[in-house]
Amino acid sequence: MSEASMSDTIDVQQSAQIIAAMAQAVTARQDELSALDSTVGDGDHGHNIAKALRQAAQQVAALDDPTPEAVWRTAGKAVQNSVGGASGLLFGAFFTGAGRSLKETDRPAALDVAEMLAAGLAAVQKRGKAQPGDKTMVDALAPAAEAAQAAAGEGLSAAETVRRAADAAQIGAESTREMTARHGRAKFLGERARGYQDAGATSVAVMLAAWADLAKGAG
Ligand code: ADP
Ligand code: MG
Repeated sequence: MSEASMSDTIDVQQSAQIIAAMAQAVTARQDELSALDSTVGDGDHGHNIAKALRQAAQQVAALDDPTPEAVWRTAGKAVQNSVGGASGLLFGAFFTGAGRSLKETDRPAALDVAEMLAAGLAAVQKRGKAQPGDKTMVDALAPAAEAAQAAAGEGLSAAETVRRAADAAQIGAESTREMTARHGRAKFLGERARGYQDAGATSVAVMLAAWADLAKGAG
């Protein structure tokens, strides 16, 4: 396989590395993520999601016969089981939904990545009922899925598609500062939540950036 085509797809080994990289990146920023949650929520988000992702990475690494689908679905189950509270179920749904979309695909390409993000977003919205603008992780995931769809449509590689998605998630996460919350604990704060960036949306941006950095390195 040529170097150029490496980053056109994501093989199973890299799928497992993505989960590990996400776990590492979120762990490195867990205090900051919990601090965001403490202004409008109960201050546990960063630690919860970091722990969940570390468990996901462990379970993924222990898979006997991993396929990309199995990797993402295993991560989803691990996250769902490890975290109490809203976001464990929602992040679990994201990974499970993303994995399910891969079916038998053994080397996900750009369009598969776009499909994963769209399916993960749909699973989160099915469970949590949040719409864009509600100041949740959906405000990072929705623009990420949209950017990935556009990038894949332009014929960009998987690595470039993930980068576009990560950049869109970052802008989306920052945009939550100006929103008032309609879901989760933050909704009880109403207008007072304005000015604070949503914790879950920020985690999404951190996770996708970790994936993008890894995909770039593999290209
Ligand atoms: P908990 O609120 O149970 O303490 P966390 O603190 O781990 O859970 O996660 C809070 C994050 O969960 C919020 O920042 C927000 O992004 C996300 N969230 C909460 N409710 C919803 C929902 N209904 N849909 C999507 N995301 C949500
Ligand atoms: Mg919380």
